[in-house]
Amino acid sequence: MKINENFLKIQSSYLFSNIAKKVNAYTAANPDKPIIRLGIGDVTRPLAGECISAMHRAVDEMADEKTFMGYPPEYGHKWLLEAIRDNDYKARGVDIDISEIFVSDGAKSDCGNIGDIFSQENKVAVCDPVYPVYVDTNVMAGRSGDFVNGGWSNIRYMPCTAENGFLPEIPKEKVDIIYLCFPNNPTGMAITKDELKKWVDYANENSAVILYDSAYEAFITEENVPHSIFEIEGAKTCAIEFRSFSKTAGFTGVRCGYTVIPHELKAGGTELNALWARRQATKFNGVSYITQRAAEACYTEEGKKQIRETIAYYQKNAQVIYNGLKDCGFTVYGAVNSPYVWLKTPGDMGSWEFFDTLLHEIQVVGTPGEGFGPSGEGYFRLTAFGSAENTAKAVERIKNYFGK
Ligand code: PLP
Repeated sequence: MKINENFLKIQSSYLFSNIAKKVNAYTAANPDKPIIRLGIGDVTRPLAGECISAMHRAVDEMADEKTFMGYPPEYGHKWLLEAIRDNDYKARGVDIDISEIFVSDGAKSDCGNIGDIFSQENKVAVCDPVYPVYVDTNVMAGRSGDFVNGGWSNIRYMPCTAENGFLPEIPKEKVDIIYLCFPNNPTGMAITKDELKKWVDYANENSAVILYDSAYEAFITEENVPHSIFEIEGAKTCAIEFRSFSKTAGFTGVRCGYTVIPHELKAGGTELNALWARRQATKFNGVSYITQRAAEACYTEEGKKQIRETIAYYQKNAQVIYNGLKDCGFTVYGAVNSPYVWLKTPGDMGSWEFFDTLLHEIQVVGTPGEGFGPSGEGYFRLTAFGSAENTAKAVERIKNYFGK
């Protein structure tokens, strides 16, 4: 047999395992120095009470012969699809049919698996810095070309730096598949409706598809920032949207998300919706009943209130980090519509050098921007997902060390 050699091309180990190695080595050598982790984008607050109650009820149903449930419907239970349609779309004036929504185990799998329905010959464009999943899954699929000078020869990188306000510039040439993530991981920056409209127009004019990851939409605070790409006129003929309950409702360990593919999105007369339906029915067996009931509970009045409280908790942390860093002279971005704070490293310090300094001098862990792509060099990501206490403590340490 032969292996898929594309897997051998993937660049070294995943960013977060490199960080883990460094942190583990440091803690082994310095067991008396407690570390504050503001690195990985995982949540820490418990699930909303409404979700927990819904899961308990669902477990009881599974324990009773009369209400026991086997395989779920492959694209999601109707009541969850309807709750998504009504709350995430209809409430924002967007008309989405439940047959356009596919419930899944999360946005990471969907962002990664969506490549199955596209030809290897497509030209892919990604932002730089970028959520690594978009790039690595295209490498695995054989769509990347070769790794030369720090990038893949067949992937079009769109730099997002302070100079362009962290918004990618529309390519002058034709690309076919465009990954956009707003509010963005890692930069924490958002896109306005007007700016996103330019991308929708480009995609429609060039028969391209936008793969729009809005995993962080719950953190949006500004009016002119869209929660869904389908708020933009024309998006239904050129976009696929990925959503997640992970950051919205703390489901990183529960696992639930969904993908929206409008019927109007076609290539050569073929609906992409039909291809994805086929892909999911073949390779995916649905999300557990218990999980879907928990997801549904996010949309009850009480559930929405509880989820908003948790988001507000993280938003406050984001402000504490943002303001604290600003006070001691850092140039800082993000935080307003995002749980991520993106800072410029001081002087000409590289992002891994800054990582080492924070770890060794003040025992704070963040994520080096360079790990998200070459344009992330000179930047650093801190996340608001820690406890309020640890967040304040980390900011104090940074102020004491750098604030002179
Ligand atoms: N998309 C982006 C941009 C993310 O940052 C993450 C998680 O960090 C995900 C998707 C993953 O979401 P999920 O937990 O639903 O797989």
